[in-house]
Amino acid sequence: MTGQRRHVPLRRCVACRASLPKAQLLRMVRSEAGWRLDVSGRAGGRGTWVCHQCVERLDERPTTRALGRAFRQDAAQVSALLRPLRDARAAADAADHGASRTADHGAHRTKTDQAASAATSDDSRHGGTHG
Ligand SMILES: [Zn+2]
Repeated sequence: MTGQRRHVPLRRCVACRASLPKAQLLRMVRSEAGWRLDVSGRAGGRGTWVCHQCVERLDERPTTRALGRAFRQDAAQVSALLRPLRDARAAADAADHGASRTADHGAHRTKTDQAASAATSDDSRHGGTHG
């Protein structure tokens, strides 16, 4: 009865036209000075949504074409707005990988990793004999 109210509002990506929860899209708002990113998601004006996936594929042909259709002469400006975001995400991703790699090295050095995997295979063998 009360579960009906848990509706997730969807927004449609202007480039790939996928309907996604708002959290997975970026809102662009057109102001007098041109397009800008609406970080709060609540700025007035006509909002246009672009999903994160399309931001990551910003420079790939299908996305550039879709953005060109959606934004027309403003497509270049919109791409310029989104590009730093994509680069920031890529940088964050790289940093994340770097961190986990370091952690992985640490595990190998202390042999915890080997011990853990040995314990796991041992465990499954025990399970087999018991079962
Ligand atoms: Zn999209």
